[in-house]
Formats: sequence, structure tokens, C-alpha cells
Amino acid sequence: MKTSIATVSISGNLPEKLEAIAEAGFDGIEIFEQDFIAHDGAPREVGEMIRAMGLEITLFQPFRDFEGLPEPLRAKAFDRAERKFDLMQELGTDLVLVCSSCHPQALGGIDRAAADFHELGDRAASRGLRVGFEALAWGRHVNDHRDAWEIVRRADHASVGLVLDSFHSLARRIDPDTIRRIPGDRIFFVQLADAPGIEMDLLYLSRHFRNMPGEGDLPVIDFMRAVAATGYAGPISLEIFNDLFRSGRPRSVAMDGYRSLVALMDDVRRAEPAVAVDLPAMPRRATVDGVSFIEFASRGAEADALEAMLDTLGFRHSGRHIAKTLSLWTQGAIRIVINRETRGYASSAYNMHGTTVCDIGLSVDDAGAAVARARHLGAKPFDQPVGPGELQIPAIRGLSGSVLHFIDEASGLGDVWQVEFTAAGHDAPGAGLTRIDHLAQTMSYDEMLSWSLFYTTLFEMDRAPMVDVIDPDGLVRSQALESADGQFRITLNGAETHRTLAGNFLADSFGASVQHIALASDDIFASAAEMARRGFRPLPMSENYYADLAARFALAPEMLDRLRAANILYDEDAGGAFLQFYSRPFAGGMFFEIVERRAGYGGYGGPNAPFRIAAQKRLMRAKGVPNQ
Ligand code: MG
Ligand code: MG
Repeated sequence: MKTSIATVSISGNLPEKLEAIAEAGFDGIEIFEQDFIAHDGAPREVGEMIRAMGLEITLFQPFRDFEGLPEPLRAKAFDRAERKFDLMQELGTDLVLVCSSCHPQALGGIDRAAADFHELGDRAASRGLRVGFEALAWGRHVNDHRDAWEIVRRADHASVGLVLDSFHSLARRIDPDTIRRIPGDRIFFVQLADAPGIEMDLLYLSRHFRNMPGEGDLPVIDFMRAVAATGYAGPISLEIFNDLFRSGRPRSVAMDGYRSLVALMDDVRRAEPAVAVDLPAMPRRATVDGVSFIEFASRGAEADALEAMLDTLGFRHSGRHIAKTLSLWTQGAIRIVINRETRGYASSAYNMHGTTVCDIGLSVDDAGAAVARARHLGAKPFDQPVGPGELQIPAIRGLSGSVLHFIDEASGLGDVWQVEFTAAGHDAPGAGLTRIDHLAQTMSYDEMLSWSLFYTTLFEMDRAPMVDVIDPDGLVRSQALESADGQFRITLNGAETHRTLAGNFLADSFGASVQHIALASDDIFASAAEMARRGFRPLPMSENYYADLAARFALAPEMLDRLRAANILYDEDAGGAFLQFYSRPFAGGMFFEIVERRAGYGGYGGPNAPFRIAAQKRLMRAKGVPNQ
């Protein structure tokens, strides 16, 4: 499989783009004419620079407004084409993309267009070049790949073929299975892009909101399955126009692109077993059974305060590491590790972010396979030296420098708690917390797509629809990722301004990280009572909140009193009810959440988020914490 990406997809100047693309592992680029023109260097040198980076130019684009023109415009269009052919030969590429005409004077007629392409094919062939025709979704006469294919078929020229672009076909809801009828060797090039499922003008959607396959809502997988079934064996290329990517870091956008392309083709291979997909074998997405542990990097008084809070939450200090300054706190199936080491990865995480979640351990079916898949998708493995008697637990680097460890029972990795930790401390009955319900990660809005792609390509999880959370000082976007059985849930919260609680946390902690950890209880009132007994102080909610709750839901007065007394928030969906309360913020804005899901409640208490945020901000302002 030859992977490619259009230079327009990535920010930076041409050399920066090329470096990022080569580093991410792509085989080639579509050179977008604008990127070439903006560069100061002769075409031959540009071609050499590209090849020196180990890349080939898979396509030159775009050549616009060619077919169907009346004379003298027609002759001028052929002259323009000849000049582009000169340039292509200097650059060293043999394929040009001609997109369907939007010219106001272009005439319709399939045979007229076919005749134009036949002549263009003759001229290209005389120089050893080829021409690919693409239907733009907003083309004046041709806006459907079926019409473009009919023109290519009637042009009947070996040097004229079809270019397919998933955006143009899928955004117009054209059935991708119509592609299966096209002979694979008549398809010269395939471009892929996804897009969010929002209704807007297609040209505007295409120029600003395209995203990587798997980041949007289009059935790119069905499109690519149909393409693969034709026997097409040419480059598979990303052509993404996106305002966030244009301002993003070239390397992370290129890495995301590579990850999305490889994951997509792996999905295609599994869905179309009869089709040969030229891609190294890799394990399927890992199934995550839950969060095995959360590790905080912390020091001194902050670490003491965090441990004191864990104690009030009903955790038991149940072990110390055999060699390192790590303490293990447990309750139900929840494990929290406090790492006070002054060397190694956790220490650097602390130095960079202050008290922070530096490591997440996931319980998977096959830890080795999870790492192998991640490596195929471009993730870096993570390891640091292990001491005598310690286990080597497979791990990878996540995004923003984070670390994910994988624990499976089959390899005996689940024994790490007995092997590496000595039993310690006092026994306590706990407060009835059972497991980690969800982790909430905060990031800047423009990183959200990267994180959601990272998780959904590595693990069996689906994206819930994105929701807007209103902070008194701005908007936060929230996207939940969930495994089908709900055992593994992550919410991604994207802040657009530093004045929001999430944005402020982000600025304070220097980068994306876990901001809150939600712990599940089967009886939230009993948990709250036990925690109160242990000295836990919940986030106080306003009386107005409970007055509104009485208006919104048919709650018995006694129930309302119980909620109010324990500062518990309440929500319902079609499935059931949700009860939640929060700790007070600690260490720069992190907090714990306690939740009880009743019946099949599927959400996260989103309608309560604005009131929770306002309550947190009240508390932080009262403490005189600046800029909150
Ligand atoms: Mg295109
Ligand atoms: Mg939550």
C-alpha cells in the first residue's frame, strides 16, 4: 500500500511540511500547486528535495476549469495544460488531477467533455504523463463520480483515468457501492477525507472542515471497501482542508493522518477478507475491560493532601512499592498509585505539570498485542529500566507526553500488585466505591480530534455526539468515548479560552491531562454518608440548583432533601437516572467525582456541568486563586 498526503493538509512552509510527512512514515505527497508557488526554488530542485526525503510526488494538483469550454477558451485551456505538463516534468511526477469545471462558460455534455479529455490524453501521453479526472461535489456540470467515470470511459484513452475523492462522493450521499462497478485499473488515484455530519454548503464544508478518516461522520470505510474491491492498487492519499490543521503543529497532523490511514486500511482488510490489502498484519483493536490503575506524580505537601483526600474518599493505603517511593491506595476494584520519586518519568512529569496523572493502566485482553497495534499506528513504545523483582509492563507514549500501561491476566501482569508492593497500612471498611466510571481529560479544543483518533484507532470504543458545556467564561466542547459495554469511558474536554475552568487548568498544568476521575458507587447516599463521617468535604451546590431540579424532574420531596443535604446532583435520560457529587478542587484544579448510574443511564450529567463549574469557580475565587 502506497500512502500519500496532500501538502495542503499540513501547516508550515514546504520544507516543514515535507519533513513532517516523511517523519510520519508516508511514501508520497500530492503536491498542491499553491505550496509549490509559495516556495522559492526551481521546480527541479523542489523535486530533488522531495525525493531526498524519501518521498515521491504521487500527484500534481489541481488543474481547474478544463473541460467543456467553447473556443477560444478551449484552446487557452490546452495551452495552460501544456505549461503544467512542463512543470510536472521538471518536478518529476506523471499524474495531474483535473477537477470538474466550475467555469461559468463551461458547456455540459458527456461526449463534449470526453472528446476534450481524449485530446488531453494524447498530449499527456506524448510526454509520458497521465491525466486523472475528479468530480467536485459543486462542479458546474459534473458533480458525481458516476458521471466522471462515464466521461473517462468514453474518452477511451489509456492515459486518462478517474480520480475518486471520498469527500465529494460521500458528502453528496452517493452510494459508495457504485464504485465497485468501475475497473480498478481505470482508477488512477484515490483521495480520502472525512467530515463532520453538519449541514452546510458543501464547498464551505470541504474547504474548512474536512478531517482525517475516522475523525468525522462520513462512511469512509464503505467508500474504501468499494475502492479496494475494484482491485485498485495505486496510492491512497489524504486530502484534508481544515482550519485547525492549517494552524496545528505539522508533525502531529501528519502523525494523525498516518494513524488514520493505516487504521482505516486495517479495517478495510477485516471487512473485505476476499480483497488483498498490501499492509503488514497487525492485531485488532484492544478491548479494554476497565482502568486497572491511575498513577499520580506528586511531592511533599501536595502528595500528603492528596493522600488525605483519598482517605476521606474511603480508600485504604494498601501497599508500598518494594523499591520506589510509591504508595498504593485501593477501594473496590480501584487502584490509585501516588508516585513521589525524584527520578524517572513520573518525576519529569511532576516537574513539568506539578501534581498530575502521569500514567494510566488499562486492563486489556492481550497487553503485548495492544502495544504491537499501537506501534503499527505510529505510537512510540515506552519503557524505563525496571529494578530487581519488578515486572516489565508493556506501555506506550500517548499524546502530549502521557503514558499508557497495559495489563492482562494471561501474561501474569495482574500480579504486579502482589509482586512489587508490600502490604502496608491500616485497614478500613471503605465508602462503597467500586470502580472507575470514567476519566475526564482536558485539552485545548484543537487537540480533541487527535485524542479521539488516538483512542478509537487503538481500542474498541465509539464516539458519542459532541456536546457544548457552558462555562460562565466561555465554551467547552465535550466528547465521550466509550466501549460498547461501558467498562471503559473517557471524556475529552476541549477548551477554547484560558478563562474557562478547563482552559485555566490547561494553562496551569502546561498541557493536556486528566482533570477529573469519576468513581462509581452502587449506593451514592451511603457512600456520601461514610465519606462525610471520614471528613470528606463535597463541592457545595447552590440552593437555586435544587429549586430548578424540583421544576425539571418529578422527584419526591424526601428525595430532593436527600440530594440537597449531600450536595448530590441529579439527571435523567431515556435509560435511567444519574446521581453525582464532586470533591473540592485540588492541586491546580483536579477533582474527584462520585457517580451512581441507575438502570441504563448512558451520559455523564452534562446538563449539570455549568452549575458544577460555577460552584467550583465560586470556591476558587473565595480562596483568592487568581484568574479563575
Ligand atoms: Mg480531491
Ligand atoms: Mg464527569
